[in-house]
Amino acid sequence: MAGEPTGEDAFCVPVRGIAVDSETRCSHYRTDWDVIAITLPCCETFFPCFECHETYCEHEAERWPPDRFDERAILCGVCDSVLAIETYLASEHRCPHCEAAFNPGCTNHWDRYFRVESE
Ligand SMILES: [Zn+2]
Ligand SMILES: [Zn+2]
Ligand SMILES: [Zn+2]
Repeated sequence: MAGEPTGEDAFCVPVRGIAVDSETRCSHYRTDWDVIAITLPCCETFFPCFECHETYCEHEAERWPPDRFDERAILCGVCDSVLAIETYLASEHRCPHCEAAFNPGCTNHWDRYFRVESE
């Protein structure tokens, strides 16, 4: 489909970002496995990545504290299911519903989204 896909109506939750495709890739992260979007405690909208959040929000991004890891904050763009943070963190980079591979490189950015201790 030509034009500018925003993706926001294509999912069960609102997704905003730059050039979001039908599996939540954005202009920043576009490889085959960049198929998740995340919401943050400061927002009710899902974003494909941290940079998309910065583009759309004027506020500082808040991070999820460990006592809220049971919240459903991760969208799998492939099967359109929303995962709890703890499910995502334990998923070994694979969607528990559709088995789509998630980018293991995201682990390097977890501290932007979650208050996890990095080793
Ligand atoms: Zn926010
Ligand atoms: Zn982005
Ligand atoms: Zn999935």
